[in-house]
Amino acid sequence: MLRHPLAAACLLLLAACSARAAAPVAPDPLRDLARLRQVSNPARLEALQALLRERGLPFELQTFPSPATPLGRTTGTNVMLTFGPAEGREIVLSAHYDAVEWKQSGTLSQGMVDNGSGTMILLDVATALRGRPLRHRIRFLWTDQEEFGLKGIEAFLASRKPGEIAAVVNVDTAGYGEAAVYGVGKTAADAQLHQTVATVCAAQRLECLEFPAFPAGDDRAVQRAAIPVVSIGFLPRIEAHQLWLLFNAKEGSGLADGWVPPVLKIIHTPEDTLDKVDPRTLGRGTGLVLETVRRLDAELG
Ligand SMILES: [Zn+2]
Repeated sequence: MLRHPLAAACLLLLAACSARAAAPVAPDPLRDLARLRQVSNPARLEALQALLRERGLPFELQTFPSPATPLGRTTGTNVMLTFGPAEGREIVLSAHYDAVEWKQSGTLSQGMVDNGSGTMILLDVATALRGRPLRHRIRFLWTDQEEFGLKGIEAFLASRKPGEIAAVVNVDTAGYGEAAVYGVGKTAADAQLHQTVATVCAAQRLECLEFPAFPAGDDRAVQRAAIPVVSIGFLPRIEAHQLWLLFNAKEGSGLADGWVPPVLKIIHTPEDTLDKVDPRTLGRGTGLVLETVRRLDAELG
């Protein structure tokens, strides 16, 4: 028994402190994202694996040969994690984790917007989806060598059986802004995917802008394989419309000659740094992707 009231207060305080320490620590998205700033893509791969281990998410690696990259790599490595039934079709959530390599300087983009942002969103969706009952196998796929000819996604697709993949949701360049921008394939199955994304946008009161012509990424290899795919990014709403005009209206865009949206001066340049990323956008992206995959899991055959 404690006689001194101060001693009792100290003990209470200690108990409160230890209780707080025992509670699960909410991931700090920018602190975790910052760990992807590395000198090479293999080091970036190590950082991603460390994040997965810390969150208790079991993963496997897929290594593939490639022509020499600008920094001389001759292999690439995809990272995969699956939830749900082993049998039947799977829904793939993909994001490339690799950053652009620059041969001349021998360096690497920090790749925080493109595509540390998508990498973190997938990590947060996996963390949220763990333990939920699922009808489909959900595969999280962090691809390598998107920035080198889409080699990682192609190696992954080549390793799957025909018809095994029901749909792919790709996340690329979702680092800042309040508006989701997305591009879908052109088949009837893609139309269903489009409808699901649009429904989630409406339900979440999220401004979403569909691009008939969307900047190319891993989704192009998925389209070529005739698998339904949607690729999602984020931008400030005005910039989203400017990018839409640039890609879809061409010379009729009304944009000043030679003017390009700021995002195109950030990605693939030394400006793609942590300060460009807004944690609120990562939260919006996680919410959009999580609800989209939840609905696809319920709707798709
Ligand atoms: Zn990218």
